[in-house]
This record gives sequence, C-alpha cells and structure tokens, in this order.
Amino acid sequence: MRYIKFEKIAQIVESLCVSAGYELPDDVLAALKEAQRKETNPGAAKILNQLIENARIAKEDKIPLCQDTGLAVVFVEQGSVVAVKPPELDTICLMPDTRGSGDENRASRIEHRETLFDAINAGVAAGCEKGFLRKSVVADPLNKRENTGSNTPAIIHHSIVPGDKLKITIIAKGGGCENKSQFRMFKPTAEREEIIDWIVDVVRTAGADACPPFVVGVGIGGDFEISCLLSKKALCRNLAARNEDGFYAELEADLLSAINALGLGPQGLGGDTTALACLVETAPCHIASLPVAVNIECHSHRHKSAVL
Ligand code: SF4
Repeated sequence: MRYIKFEKIAQIVESLCVSAGYELPDDVLAALKEAQRKETNPGAAKILNQLIENARIAKEDKIPLCQDTGLAVVFVEQGSVVAVKPPELDTICLMPDTRGSGDENRASRIEHRETLFDAINAGVAAGCEKGFLRKSVVADPLNKRENTGSNTPAIIHHSIVPGDKLKITIIAKGGGCENKSQFRMFKPTAEREEIIDWIVDVVRTAGADACPPFVVGVGIGGDFEISCLLSKKALCRNLAARNEDGFYAELEADLLSAINALGLGPQGLGGDTTALACLVETAPCHIASLPVAVNIECHSHRHKSAVL
C-alpha cells in the first residue's frame, strides 16, 4: 500500500483551486483564440478578444477570471493501492463550522479530520481563503441559506481505479451556467436527430444568462443520476479531444455545428461562436430507458488536474 500524506493532498487541492480561479486552462484559451480567428461577426470577434485579454490580465495580476469563482466540483480517481496517511497528531485542521453560527458552536469549529474527503475540503477552504475567491456555498438549500464561509463542502465524485496514483480534477463551476443544465428521459426508440434537437434547444434556452461561448457536456445512458454525472464529467476532457468512439465523435461534431448555427454568439450578442466544444460521454443503460443530460459550462471553463 502506498500512503499519501493528508497535508500533501490538501496542499495540492489548495493550489488547484487558486490556479483554477486565476488561470484559464491552455485548451480553453486555445479554443477561444481559434474561435476568434474564425469568427466572421466583428462584434463577436471583439468580445472573444476581450475574453482572451481578460484571461491574460487575470493570470498576470493574479485576480479571479470571474466574480463567480465557482463551486468546487472534484473528481477523484484513487488507485486501489493508495491510501491517505492521517495528519500528524499535532496537526489540527481548522474547518469552519457548517452547521450553524454563534458561540455555542465554537467548539465544533476545531476538529481533527482525516479522510480523503476531509483533505479535499480542507484544501478547497484554504484555496478559497488564500486566493481571495468568493465563498459561494450555503449550508441549507431552502430554509436558512447561510453561507458556510469556506466554499465547502465541495461536490466530490470518487472512484477506485487500478494502480498506485491519486488523480484529482477540479472544476470551478459557475452558478449561472449550472442553473441552465437540464435532464430528459427519452423513449429508447428516440432518433439521433430528436436528441440533437433537444440538446440544441437546451443551449438556446440557456442563452446569454449562462455566459456563452459555452462548453456543452452531454451524458447519454446510465440512469437518471449517472447521465447527469457523465454530463459533468465530460467537462473534464481536453476540449480538443474527441470521443474515442467514432459514432459519438461524429455526434459531438454535429452537435457543435448545430449549436453554433443558433447564432447566439459570445455573450448572446450574435455571432458564429455559441459553443467552443461539445463533449459526449456515455454509459450502458436499461433496455426501456434512454436518459440524456446536458451540463452547460460558460466560457470561464476552469478545470485543473493533478496526479499524486
Ligand atoms: S456563468 Fe461563468 S462567466 Fe458567467 S458569471 Fe458565472 S462563472 Fe462567471
């Protein structure tokens, strides 16, 4: 068994959060530059140029790419022979209390936590603090909606894979674009064109509110929850990478063409560039089902990975 220190994991997550907030990934920047080069609408080309300039300033001045610095969505692939070495006994992890506020809860703010998920949340909280990133999480979704003050808990998707490595991918997901994501259960007899039409309509409905040009994640198959998870996981892919299955690679290309034919354009002000990429992920499903989910991601597509 290989052990990775709790503190090491927290440090890596912290640095991923900060760099995600400040630095647009190379694949997204390349896609924006390529779109700017091809854009035939002068106004749209100008907006794309401003997005590229915004990315340059954010990186150089170490300031967030957007005021919504996102909810930390973390995909963790844990090798089957890797484990977390708990923190040294003299190390105390300071975690803000998410269960309430006031002096009566002060004691619960200092806790000794030691799981992989705790290390990730400690890193997210530290990154948020160090990078002056907006704290965008409320503890209770409907009743009190009090801010947890730490941007935690993160949304963590964990899987066990062969090997002795720990891969951590963080997406800083904006609320405006996430709000426009949708799910639909199709009949298993649905035609390819029917599914394309629905996905394009989801993008049309997202409109300017979700800050185009988009990256569109599509999950097809699995069941209700797996299709949604796949649509988010698709956003972890390099934008230039096509689906390895030729059928779905062609579907990605056709979807991107249909989405860009909408003419929504950057910031919804018209143009050829409504989306930078459309990424499809699939899973086996029930013979009676054909679940499809669309996750809308804005131009500020902040995804970062590290392998320990
Ligand atoms: S949708 Fe994206 S670009 Fe728009 S405000 Fe939210 S994080 Fe920022």
